[in-house]
Amino acid sequence: MAVTWLRETPARLRYRCSVCGSEEIEAEAWVQLNSGAFVEWLETAHYWCPACETHRENPCQVDAQEFCVMHDRAFSACRAESAEAEKGAQS
Ligand SMILES: [Zn+2]
Ligand SMILES: [Zn+2]
Repeated sequence: MAVTWLRETPARLRYRCSVCGSEEIEAEAWVQLNSGAFVEWLETAHYWCPACETHRENPCQVDAQEFCVMHDRAFSACRAESAEAEKGAQS
């Protein structure tokens, strides 16, 4: 049997909360009703961050080097900007 999984491991991408950096975020997705298999995440949907207890949009997608491929910059820059935006919205 061919060992295809040894070929090339892509950088592991994780969806992260753009404010607190939590990986425990949740969102609405399509699943196969009879198997429960995940089909597709609705990228237009908001996500829920249990750590922030807040609904937000645009989660970051972060690689192993802490780089956000979603916004093409360091994840720390995303978090700084999100924190600023949040502060501005509250005051
Ligand atoms: Zn959060
Ligand atoms: Zn980002």
